[in-house]
Amino acid sequence: MESKPDLISKRRTFLGSMAGFFSLGFLTWLDLWNKAKAGDVSFMNNLPDPVTSGKELPTFKFQLEKQKGKVIGGSSVKAATVRDFPISKSIAGASMRLEPGGMRELHWHATAAEWTYVVEGRIRTTVIEPGGTSEVNEFSAGDVWFFPRGHGHMLECLGEQPCHFILIFDNGYFSEFGTFSLTDWFAQTPKELLAKNLRVPAETFASFPKGEVYFSKGKIPPEKASPALLKGKTPLMSHKATLKGPQPHRVFPGGKEWTVDSSKFPIAKTVAGVLFELEAGALRELHWHPNADEWQYVLEGTFRVTLFGSGGRYREEILEKGDVAYLPQGFGHSIENIGDKTGQILLGLNAEEYQVIDISSWLASNSPEVLATNFNQPKEIFEKFPRKDVFIAPL
Ligand code: MN
Ligand code: MN
Repeated sequence: MESKPDLISKRRTFLGSMAGFFSLGFLTWLDLWNKAKAGDVSFMNNLPDPVTSGKELPTFKFQLEKQKGKVIGGSSVKAATVRDFPISKSIAGASMRLEPGGMRELHWHATAAEWTYVVEGRIRTTVIEPGGTSEVNEFSAGDVWFFPRGHGHMLECLGEQPCHFILIFDNGYFSEFGTFSLTDWFAQTPKELLAKNLRVPAETFASFPKGEVYFSKGKIPPEKASPALLKGKTPLMSHKATLKGPQPHRVFPGGKEWTVDSSKFPIAKTVAGVLFELEAGALRELHWHPNADEWQYVLEGTFRVTLFGSGGRYREEILEKGDVAYLPQGFGHSIENIGDKTGQILLGLNAEEYQVIDISSWLASNSPEVLATNFNQPKEIFEKFPRKDVFIAPL
């Protein structure tokens, strides 16, 4: 439950933001007001968004791996933000590769939390939380990390093989190129101030980097992490979980599903992850998410993604390996493997809980008579419809 002052401040913000919207009419206004009183701000999504409220649906595909990105030595990052991918207002993503010995330096994100899926290689991370608790973790393919907004962290590649991971940020305006890096901060701060702060002579900083390093490069880190200067307390909630382990969480004719949300990964309050392995020709059926936008990254294969946006608006995109898609909250969609071998697609949803409504179970929750009237068709047709959730339909 939210405390009263929170609700009052939400009401005030709401009143302020509603000042220009009297044209909505009194009933709509009252409706929104009642929702606001309940503390639910998700109604804000109902205000017309110029990107998704036009006559046609905009493209919802972005070729992430075809971007040039930022390359330093053998490490690189490619980002998809709302600047290049206008529909993706609430989720930004990035594909990062670290060379052996490569490090994404100590940094934090002022405006986004970071959820990451490891595609290949091994990575060690350090993270600090408010209160000074800290954690060191190691990740390999299939693992995920979550760093809440503002928590300081570092990523380093372990071993002789390069690493590749997909980052998902809970803010589409966030850019991985706009992070707060430690070397940048040091470079901007007078040496005397750093000296006073860190209790060492100012000359100590004479040869420090003159600007942001972003990716640094060193020796391959020791297999066993060297001890920190101070061994802090361990956080109550770990920043590490596994999405894709050897056992799928659900198996269907035609495909498998792995999921991780805050029920298994309590710290991940703003991003839930899903991975589908779909056999050639298999279809993740028509569905929508009541509580989340969906960001997709194709790990392997070729998929046709369909999107229904109300008002006669429908669009399809073909996604190849390395392509990204974004499906707004509540918009109907489907995912079909149109390649000739098994494919894999990673999904990030900006919600605490993974919630889905599938078309087959929605139809099945109504009687054939209701469906017959709805479609103006004989009811016998609907008696043949599935009587359980299809979820994944095989070829
Ligand atoms: Mn980061
Ligand atoms: Mn979906």
